[in-house]
Amino acid sequence: MKPHLLIVEDEPALIELLRYNFDKEGFRVTTAGDGEAALVAVAEGRPDLMILDWMLPHISGLEVCRQLRRKADTRDLPIIMLTARGEESDRVRGLEVGADDYVAKPFSPSELIARVRAVLRRAKPSSAHDMLTYGDLSMDLASHRVIRGGRSVHLGPTEFRLLRFLLERPGRVYSREQLLDAVWGRDIYVEPRTVDVHIRRLRKAINGEGEIDLIRTVRSAGYALDETADA
Ligand code: CA
Repeated sequence: MKPHLLIVEDEPALIELLRYNFDKEGFRVTTAGDGEAALVAVAEGRPDLMILDWMLPHISGLEVCRQLRRKADTRDLPIIMLTARGEESDRVRGLEVGADDYVAKPFSPSELIARVRAVLRRAKPSSAHDMLTYGDLSMDLASHRVIRGGRSVHLGPTEFRLLRFLLERPGRVYSREQLLDAVWGRDIYVEPRTVDVHIRRLRKAINGEGEIDLIRTVRSAGYALDETADA
C-alpha cells in the first residue's frame, strides 16, 4: 500500500512541486492549505506522515503540531516541519513542540524525500514480540507500549526508537554521534544537538515525579540508561 502523505502548505506552487515529486516516488498525497484544514484532514483519515509548514494563515504549523501531540490518537503521528527560518533556536523550538524532523526552506525535493523516508522507517512498528525491561521500565515491542512503575508512558516515534536502542544495551554509554547513526540513520544529516532535545523529551516522558532519572548524562561523552544515575 502506498504511504499516505499529508502536505500542509499555503503556497500553491510549493504544494504542486511536492505533490509531483512525492507522487513520482510512490506516495499517496493529500494536501491542506492551512492549519485548520490540516486538523480536519487528520481527523478524517490519519496520514502516515505529515509535512507541516511553520508559517500558515490563522493557526501556525507550530500550534498544529502542539495540538496533535496533545491528543492520544495523534501523539505519535510522524511530522516534518518546514520553515523559511534557518535559526538553530527555531529548529529546537520545532523539535520541542514534537516535530520529528525539521527542514529549512529552501530545500531540494530529493532532500525532503530522504527525510520523509528516514522518519517513516523510524516510525515503522516492530514485528518482534519481545519485551525489553530495565528496572521498573518495560517496553513491549509488539504493541509499542511502554510502562514505568505500572503507569503507561506515551512516547513520540523518535523517543520510542531512542529508548529502544538504549534498552537493548543498558549501562552502555553512547555518544551523540552513535545515537544519531542508530536512531536517525546514517543517510541524513542531523545536528548532534538534536539528540539532546530528544533525550530531554524522553526524560520528561519516562521520569515521573519522585522517580529516579533512568538516563545518565555522561559529560562530553554521551548518554546511557543507568538506574544509578544522579538526579
Ligand atoms: Ca507558508
